[in-house]
Amino acid sequence: MRLTPDLEDLIDNQVTKYSTQLSIAKPKYVLRVKDVLTLPKEITRGRRTSAYRYYGVAYIKHNIVFFNVKRSNSLRKLQETIAHELVHLRFPYLNHGSALRAKVKAVIHGRCYRPYKKRVKKRSLSEN
Ligand SMILES: [Zn+2]
Repeated sequence: MRLTPDLEDLIDNQVTKYSTQLSIAKPKYVLRVKDVLTLPKEITRGRRTSAYRYYGVAYIKHNIVFFNVKRSNSLRKLQETIAHELVHLRFPYLNHGSALRAKVKAVIHGRCYRPYKKRVKKRSLSEN
């Protein structure tokens, strides 16, 4: 799709909405391959010059996402990509599989999730 100011607004609204549903901080995001290339190399390492091939990329550790607007051929696909990449931020432990796909679908349908909490091992009594 061609990136227009209207489309940019639509994307921003979608990112805000899904970030709220997923209880994550709204990430920084870029919409063009050339913007990926302006990001520091240590952030994009491994998915930098290859970024154009994907519908989207989540640079999870840095809370930055790339939505490849040009590659998306419909609003629906773009919406799915936005949900998909944001689900990666909320569920960093999920690989691509049925669990992740189910969450993407649920987010598109309006489901909300509690904030992500890293599991902390409880100290055993003997350590106290
Ligand atoms: Zn993914």
